[in-house]
Amino acid sequence: MLGPVILAASRSDRMRRLISAAPVTKQVVDRFIPGETVADIVPIIEDLTAKGLELTMDVVGEDITAPEQATAARDAYLALIDHLKALELGEKVEMSVKLSMFGQALDGGHELALANVRPVVEAAAAIGTTVTLDAEDHTTLDSMFAIHEELRKDFPQTGCVIQAYLFRTEADARRLAASGSRVRLVKGAYKEPAEVAYQQKHEIDKAYVRILRILMEGAGYPMIGSHDPRLIAIAQELAHKAGRKLDEYEFQMLYGIRSEEHLRLAAEGHRMRVYTAYGTDWYGYFMRRLAEKPANLRFFLRSMVSKG
Ligand SMILES: Cc1cc2nc3c(=O)[nH]c(=O)nc-3n(C[C@H](O)[C@H](O)[C@H](O)COP(=O)(O)OP(=O)(O)OC[C@H]3O[C@@H](n4cnc5c(N)ncnc54)[C@H](O)[C@@H]3O)c2cc1C
Repeated sequence: MLGPVILAASRSDRMRRLISAAPVTKQVVDRFIPGETVADIVPIIEDLTAKGLELTMDVVGEDITAPEQATAARDAYLALIDHLKALELGEKVEMSVKLSMFGQALDGGHELALANVRPVVEAAAAIGTTVTLDAEDHTTLDSMFAIHEELRKDFPQTGCVIQAYLFRTEADARRLAASGSRVRLVKGAYKEPAEVAYQQKHEIDKAYVRILRILMEGAGYPMIGSHDPRLIAIAQELAHKAGRKLDEYEFQMLYGIRSEEHLRLAAEGHRMRVYTAYGTDWYGYFMRRLAEKPANLRFFLRSMVSKG
C-alpha cells in the first residue's frame, strides 16, 4: 500500500524540497543514481562496458516549467554524446529520454519536445547509437508515440517504451511490433487510475506476458525491461519458441538493482543493458525506485533516523 503514497509524494514540491535537502539523502540516492556530472559517469560507463554490459543513459529530470530548461536538457544530452564519441562504444551505449524534460507539457509542448529531441537523436546516430523514448504517465503517451513515429521516418532505430499496466498497451504493442520498432516493455512506474490501468500485481504480470509474446512473435526488436526472475525466464522461453537468436532481443535493468543478475545474463551470452541515470534533478526518479520496493523506503528512513 505504500507504493501509491510514495508516488503521490513524488509529485509534491514540498516533499521534493524536504528530501532533496536532507543531509543523508545523497548517500542513499547514490545506489540508484551514481553521479551528478558527465565526469562522474564516464568511469562508470567504462567499467560496466568492460564487464560485457551495455548501457542506456538517462540524464535525470522531468516535469520542467520553462522552455529554457528544455534547451538545457537537450544540451546536457548533447554534451554526454560528445563524451561518448571519444569512447567509441557505438550502440553499446544508447540514450533514454523523458519527453517531459524536453518541454512536452509546456505550451506548444508537442512541437517543442520534438524540436528539442531531434538533435539528440541526430547526434546519437552520428556516433553509431540511438535513443529510446521513455514512457511517462498515460496522459503523455499519444504525444510520445507520435514523436516516436516522426523520428523513425529518418532514424528507424529510435525506440520507445510501453507499460504492461495500461489497458491500451496490447494494441500499442501490436502496432509497434508490426512496424519493426525497437520496443522496451516495462511493468510501469507511475500512479495510474483504475480506468486506464491494472492495479493488481498478478494482473500486470499476466499482461506483461501477453504483450511480451506479441513482441517476440513480431518483426521488431524486444527489450525486456524488468528485474522479475519469473518474467526473465518466460522471456527466454518465448524468444526460443519464436526462433530468435541471442542478438535479436535484449534484457534491460536499472543500475543498482539486481546487479549480479546483470552479470549472470551477460555471461550467458545475452545482451544486457543497464539503465544508468545521472544528474542533479534526481528526485522523481529516486522516489519511483522507493515506491517499487518498500524495503528501500525502510532503508532510507533508517538512514535518516540514524543520522538525525
Ligand atoms: C531498463 C528499465 C527502464 C524502465 N523505463 C521505464 C519507463 O520508461 N517508464 C515506466 O513507467 N517505467 C519504467 N521502468 C520501471 C518499471 O516500470 C518498473 O517500475 C520497475 O522495473 C520494477 O518492475 P519489475 O519488472 O522489475 O518487477 P517487480 O515485480 O517490481 O520487481 C521484481 C524484483 O526486482 C527487484 N526490484 C524491482 N524494483 C526494485 C527497486 N526499486 N529496488 C530494489 N529492488 C527492486 C526486487 O527484487 C523485486 O522483487 C523501467 C525499468 C527498467 C528495468
